[in-house]
Amino acid sequence: MPEPDTADQDGDVLPLFNGVDLHGTVEFPGCGSYAGKDFGDLQFSKPLAVIRPANTDDVAKVIRLASRSPHLTVAASGNGHSVNGQAMAHRGLVLDMKAVESEIHVDPTTAVADVSGGALWEDVLRHCVLGHGLAPRSWTDYLGLTVGGTLSNAGVSGQAFIYGPQTENVTEMEVVTGNGDVLVCSKNQNTELFFGVLGGLGQFGVITRARVLLQPAPDMVRWIRVVYSDFSEFTRDAESLVTRPEGDSFDYVEGFVFVNSDDPVNGWMSVPLDPDQYFDPARIPRSAGPVLYCLEVALHYKNEDSPSEVDMRVEKLIGGLRFIEELRFRVDVGYIEFLLRVKRAEEEAKANGIWDAPHPWLNLFVSKTDIADFDRVVFKNILKHGVGGPMLVYPLLRSKWDNRKSVVLPQGEIFYLVALLRFCFPYPKGLSVGEMVVQNQEIIQSCTKNGFDFKLYLPHYNTREGWKHHFGNQWTRFQDRKATFDPMAILAPGQKIFPRNW
Ligand code: FAD
Repeated sequence: MPEPDTADQDGDVLPLFNGVDLHGTVEFPGCGSYAGKDFGDLQFSKPLAVIRPANTDDVAKVIRLASRSPHLTVAASGNGHSVNGQAMAHRGLVLDMKAVESEIHVDPTTAVADVSGGALWEDVLRHCVLGHGLAPRSWTDYLGLTVGGTLSNAGVSGQAFIYGPQTENVTEMEVVTGNGDVLVCSKNQNTELFFGVLGGLGQFGVITRARVLLQPAPDMVRWIRVVYSDFSEFTRDAESLVTRPEGDSFDYVEGFVFVNSDDPVNGWMSVPLDPDQYFDPARIPRSAGPVLYCLEVALHYKNEDSPSEVDMRVEKLIGGLRFIEELRFRVDVGYIEFLLRVKRAEEEAKANGIWDAPHPWLNLFVSKTDIADFDRVVFKNILKHGVGGPMLVYPLLRSKWDNRKSVVLPQGEIFYLVALLRFCFPYPKGLSVGEMVVQNQEIIQSCTKNGFDFKLYLPHYNTREGWKHHFGNQWTRFQDRKATFDPMAILAPGQKIFPRNW
């Protein structure tokens, strides 16, 4: 909860800006304005000022300014799509990174793009594909997120089994550290900063530029969904697809759980890819339980590839998978349309008011060893009526994640992303927000009680003990990096890991 206002804290921020020659602008907002809430709509804060920096120099000046005060903190805010106040700075300074003029420079010869930290991935997509026929290799499902925001976490989607998360697809960054230094870092230069910042929850520096790897963009995507009633068959097939040799699988593999009912949001109708397609419940085996599973795959192709060629490639890849034959759906869409698929859902959700309502989301990485028990305890039991939105579950490969980076993962080569993307329908139709939060806690407690090997993705803890436990044997490294790059703990206070001047 926000602390009560104290005049002297308010009073000393205004003179601090005197003599600071910013090219951007400074606003002194009220509570509830931009930066006072986020996509989660669960946490509220009152920043002292929102700075719209014009360039890297402005970012550095603001951090140095904060370092001259005994209490000021600085949060870089991307698109504010965190759900637990991670990009907020209560009584601190918020840097609106989207205000830095978005720069996207593509070098077609080396197939990389230099992009500003505040650029939205959807803009990077359009610029690279439409201007150069190239595209980043690894994505998130939704692209209204900034480059700096996803790189501070990981950035995962259905391509991560091939290329790793977005943090594995960056070769260089320009970062402003908590000391106010502007440094270029890569695997060979300022190495510790490079590895620390990627997945570093904004703790070590503000990313002002990232060099992103590109590949030739396809024209089209064959997008397919198939249904399973048996979780072990679903996971067996999903794991077989993500462990095939490179080039021998689909270009995208994800999956989700849905309710075995006619519930319009959580049930059968969440599967078809086109309004003309019909999900025939008569095809579901009688032995099916309260939830079913959908494997979602996609294959890239070029305009010049003949439909029969694409059919053949798909059949080769899909042959041998054990889904319910009659519950198979497909559409062919343009590559950009495929990557912007969640934007359509966003527009619908905005129209019916649930986009701006609270989102008590829970994201976990669960080890393959425990995913069957997780299904039994969580999907088939706690969540058997759904979450009012997608319940993603799909396998990822640990070997695609460089463990020198800051993200922590469960043990073992295969682990699952579980994303419970809750949307709040007007109460009493669904659970109330409070009940959803309690249900999330119940899920985490069940995982702990059952001894599951899991980590929170987009983690959120309120205590030092919680964070220490989250990082486990990497806590010391994380702390050491903080001591080096942000010793006064100025940056990203909304993560609640290190208090100012810890
Ligand atoms: P913010 O929420 O603004 O910031 C997140 C954190 O990063 C904060 O601590 C902030 O201080 C820090 N930060 C922001 N910018 C910078 C910067 N330039 N330098 C350093 N630190 C910075 N995630 C996935 O991995 N895959 C998905 O498919 C996916 N889909 C999503 C769909 C939706 C609709 C939403 C709301 C979220 C989704 N996410 C997904 C989660 C998303 O990746 C994170 O919430 C991400 O942090 C949001 O990016 P943002 O730009 O809004 O960052």
